[in-house]
Amino acid sequence: MDLSEDRSEAQARSDRPAAPATVNSGLTVTVLGCSGSYPGPGGAGSGYLLDDGTTKVCVDAGPGTLANLQRHIGFEDLDAIVLSHEHPDHWSDLEGWQVVWRYRLKRRDFPVFAPAGLRARTYDPESPAFTWHTVAGGDTVGVGTMQFTFSRTDHGPVTLAMRVDAGGRSLGYSADTGPAWSMEALGPGLDLVLCEATVPIEEEDTMQHLSARQAGATAKAAGARRLVLTHLWPSLDPGKAQSLGSEGFGAPVEVATVGARYQV
Ligand SMILES: [Zn+2]
Ligand SMILES: [Zn+2]
Repeated sequence: MDLSEDRSEAQARSDRPAAPATVNSGLTVTVLGCSGSYPGPGGAGSGYLLDDGTTKVCVDAGPGTLANLQRHIGFEDLDAIVLSHEHPDHWSDLEGWQVVWRYRLKRRDFPVFAPAGLRARTYDPESPAFTWHTVAGGDTVGVGTMQFTFSRTDHGPVTLAMRVDAGGRSLGYSADTGPAWSMEALGPGLDLVLCEATVPIEEEDTMQHLSARQAGATAKAAGARRLVLTHLWPSLDPGKAQSLGSEGFGAPVEVATVGARYQV
């Protein structure tokens, strides 16, 4: 949030009473990368910076997300990384994080939450840079002031969708999934959902991914208030995906772009 902008806006409306200061600062999602499976031109793999005003967590760390994070916060401002699954488009920049944390900042024990098996895929599974926490479907864990609840999706390796409750708001993130998993598994009251919409409608049900229409339908079934489509293959037409997603959701949806910021 640009506070200087807020102040000038407040000054311009000085005839109105000032809004009371709130302790509850909500939850913000900044898209660090949203390409499906491989980055498109100038794009990045999956990665989302969550910030509730106290805790900052990076959910997924696909290729290009470490670079983009530096546009928003310093390395040392991040509290933890949470990874959904072991496909490289969701975690390969963890290798860069290992170098930054261990050799540049000379720190250790940075918390990483991930499904079993991902750690063994890294270059140095025993690196002192990280403290690994294994998470599984059905787990609820606290990360700073945020609460994460995981649900195993319909996808190749163990893949964890997640519900994040923080700042009085609730975010749902599908990670990667096929249509045999429903967003309903994340529970009611989701204020904003980031749902994968990887494949064109012609390829619905041919792999463990969703089309934009299916993403809309699962978010609708969960009663989500707002839907942002993400993880589109770079070959897809975002406008068409938006239209199909809106059809499935029954209300207008948005399509994630790198750098976009959402108040959950
Ligand atoms: Zn993926
Ligand atoms: Zn995947």
